[in-house]
Amino acid sequence: MNAPIPIRPLPSGGCADAPVLRERGQHEVFCGLTGIIWLHRKVQDAFFLVVGSRTCAHLIQSAAGVMIFAEPRFATAIIDERDLAGLADCHDELDRVVNRLLERRPEIRTLFLVGSCPSEVIKLDLHRAAERLDAIHRPTTRVLNYSGSGIETTFTQGEDACLAAWVPEMPEAGANDPESLLVVGSLPDVVEDQFARLFRDLGIARVQFFPPRRAIQLPAVGPGTRFLLAQPFLADTARRLEARGAQRLAAPFPFGAEGTTEWLRAAADAFGVAPERFESVTAPGRERARVALQRPRALLAGKRIFFFPDSQLEPAMARFLARELGMQLTEVGTPYLHRSLMAHELALLPEGATLSEGQDVERQLDRCRALRPDLVVCGLGLANPLEAEGLTTKWAIELVFTPVHGYDQAADLAELFARPLVRKTKLAA
Ligand code: SF4
Repeated sequence: MNAPIPIRPLPSGGCADAPVLRERGQHEVFCGLTGIIWLHRKVQDAFFLVVGSRTCAHLIQSAAGVMIFAEPRFATAIIDERDLAGLADCHDELDRVVNRLLERRPEIRTLFLVGSCPSEVIKLDLHRAAERLDAIHRPTTRVLNYSGSGIETTFTQGEDACLAAWVPEMPEAGANDPESLLVVGSLPDVVEDQFARLFRDLGIARVQFFPPRRAIQLPAVGPGTRFLLAQPFLADTARRLEARGAQRLAAPFPFGAEGTTEWLRAAADAFGVAPERFESVTAPGRERARVALQRPRALLAGKRIFFFPDSQLEPAMARFLARELGMQLTEVGTPYLHRSLMAHELALLPEGATLSEGQDVERQLDRCRALRPDLVVCGLGLANPLEAEGLTTKWAIELVFTPVHGYDQAADLAELFARPLVRKTKLAA
């Protein structure tokens, strides 16, 4: 595996060497199917077919139902209880569902079969099914598979599993192709456009985004590819890109003015952008963010925040909230802590917070209750009981459903955390 290009020395101190509380108990978090909600909106000619139970169908329909405005680009093939003898029928049924779907929707260019956790689905070899269906429907439609099962994935890992399954399909960049920049992680189109403009103004000519807006525009990858992760939960995708010869640019994540600037700087340094040009291109965005953050900062500064582990975004969010908004960190929980992907984030995190990885939900609830933070970031399942105990909560899932990257979303991101506190004040008045 290639080592990431060391762009700038890591800041010293922070939480780089802080001990991590590791817990492996019961956890409360959505499964990886949730990622379909933002992935199907991003990739316009892809389709996500969940092979699962009625529970899976309910999850994605209730999470996404309000967002369906035309022909949906996801569905569930329901596999009911069957014994092993019924598995051959399952394969036949899946073939029938896929054939019918592709006849009716010939515009689908990539079909993802998404595995789930009911035992009937686990017994079904989805990889083999995808290979079989791919051989039938190629070249019009590629059929790939990944797992969104709650046993194997937490909610943001669904995107990682999807993109990692897609990397082998990316065309090979030619040995003589000029160096290119690949931005990895699903971004709302409006944010992608903002970043594309910034890279263009910096003079970085070849910039592509993965996942692309259309499956047929899958970017090429090779030894001349430098990539920036836009999300911290893409460890498997990063590994697969590195196996294709691409090199990761180590950086904090583009949340808040500081994270965005350092993320852009990693690319600017790798592509030889002059420091003066970097300054002049980024100055307006930094200034807009600074001004826009004044209001939420007045609400959030000095407030104590506690993160339950949900999205793997927690250390980056905590860094932004502590350094740009003056919040005090109590516990920063994350489902997995990838030390190398998070190295810059950890180095920037103020010392003193408890870092925890994994979850033992009852013990963590006890710690949270004892600390009585002003704001708790957690999943939907914990939010209501904690609110009933008088704590103020923020749903972690909004952090992936809302445009939050870059300079122009910095204040929106801060407002997500300020809003529950404002609501609480209003209710108390
Ligand atoms: Fe539930 Fe598993 Fe289906 Fe997710 S994949 S909705 S955890 S049954």
